[in-house]
Amino acid sequence: MTNFAIIGSGPMGLMAALELLKQGHKVDIYERDDRIGGMSADFDFDGLRIERYYHFICKTDYPLFKLLDEMKLSDRLHWTDTKMGYYYEGKLHKWGTPFALLGFPHLGLIDKVRYALHVMHTKGIKDWAALDKENARDWITRWIGPKAYKVMWEKAFALKFFEYQNKLSASWIGTRIKRVALSRRNLFNESMGYLDGGSAVLLERMAAEVKRLGGNILLGQPIDEVTSEGGKVTGIRTPGGHTACDKVVSTAPIQYVPRLVPGLPQAFADQVAAIENIPVACVILKLSQPVSENFWMNISDDRIAIPGLIEYSNLNPGRGPGEHIVYAPYYMPKTHPKWQWTNQQLIDEVISYLPMINPAFKPEWIRATHCHRYEFAQTICPPGFQDMLPPMKTPLEGFYMADTAYYYPEDRSINESLAVGTRLAEMASV
Ligand SMILES: Cc1cc2nc3c(=O)[nH]c(=O)nc-3n(C[C@H](O)[C@H](O)[C@H](O)COP(=O)(O)OP(=O)(O)OC[C@H]3O[C@@H](n4cnc5c(N)ncnc54)[C@H](O)[C@@H]3O)c2cc1C
Repeated sequence: MTNFAIIGSGPMGLMAALELLKQGHKVDIYERDDRIGGMSADFDFDGLRIERYYHFICKTDYPLFKLLDEMKLSDRLHWTDTKMGYYYEGKLHKWGTPFALLGFPHLGLIDKVRYALHVMHTKGIKDWAALDKENARDWITRWIGPKAYKVMWEKAFALKFFEYQNKLSASWIGTRIKRVALSRRNLFNESMGYLDGGSAVLLERMAAEVKRLGGNILLGQPIDEVTSEGGKVTGIRTPGGHTACDKVVSTAPIQYVPRLVPGLPQAFADQVAAIENIPVACVILKLSQPVSENFWMNISDDRIAIPGLIEYSNLNPGRGPGEHIVYAPYYMPKTHPKWQWTNQQLIDEVISYLPMINPAFKPEWIRATHCHRYEFAQTICPPGFQDMLPPMKTPLEGFYMADTAYYYPEDRSINESLAVGTRLAEMASV
């Protein structure tokens, strides 16, 4: 039996713990936050338990479906035929169906055909290796032309990736297009999933199973250092002192790792430090009326500094009419002046956008507001990212690590964290 310490109680840490416990190891999970879940954690939003950041499930999230089945939670998974919108230069257009594309006035017919062909082509890609080395902007422009790239993609990339917008891997963007394209019932209906009760339903069941199998989850206990001697892990240090263990599995964003693990060789620490990640500040509003009929609304308008609005209650109706939830994510590097804004300033700015999107909006609709920040929310995956990723089994004996970067080329999702958590446990238990 090996004595493991796991850093982080998000879905990846919980999944790795479950797998290690099933193999008979001793596992303690250390969590810096006062709750489990990481980016999937929820909070009390004026009497409503809801995730700090929006979460939807796609039809291809197979590791998630397997776990829901094992945890006897499949009946909590629901699907909604969701609608998409595109707010382009002052007008909200329908989006996401062939009719919507045909009716969109800002692209010519040839551009529309090329746009549709690109989505169909991307949906069929199985091997992403060739696109790993390609630049996303060049790849998309080759398929749909420069005008359509400008109309459909340029603003979204600028507002999500800022100085990185022209340095993104085509395979990373391609898998996002594919995941959403495959989550359709047919050509006309996008179908997205959610868990009744939110991600907490699954995370709490996983945590209960960890405890039932003899594991511990220590909340509010940050690991400050992974200690080592002679190139081998000896334990962990928390504000409470030093605890010996045989192996440490980190699921915290890897940007923390070089400082956390001084025993790593410098060259390896430098490889980790070369991977960039940007934060998010996500505004959440509770409204008495819906803003639109859409779950997902992309935005391209020079007056609006967010790439989209996610009207979550159009996916998960929650407590029904009269309580509408809207998320507005600000992804931005910490160097961006708005990162210094207070949460209230960001909330106020989002509210100022609502009358543009829905002229009927009234400030009296607002019932509650909130904003959450996550320091390392989105890894930046440039062309050639596959070769940049340091191995999960590090040169420090007994120290293993992964985070959302290791989904690559897939995008961030709970589903991918479950898959990577399983891989981490397999690797660390040998
Ligand atoms: C805005 C936004 C929207 C999203 N939308 C979706 C979606 O629609 N669908 C979907 O499936 N996924 C979505 N995700 C992604 C999903 O939330 C993540 O992929 C998932 O939560 C990652 O889990 P993880 O366990 O790998 O990492 P994390 O959630 O990052 O967990 C890492 C944990 O490590 C802890 N930690 C860090 N340092 C220490 C330390 N020194 N000591 C102890 N603990 C530490 C952190 O507190 C955290 O709890 C979204 C995320 C964001 C931010």
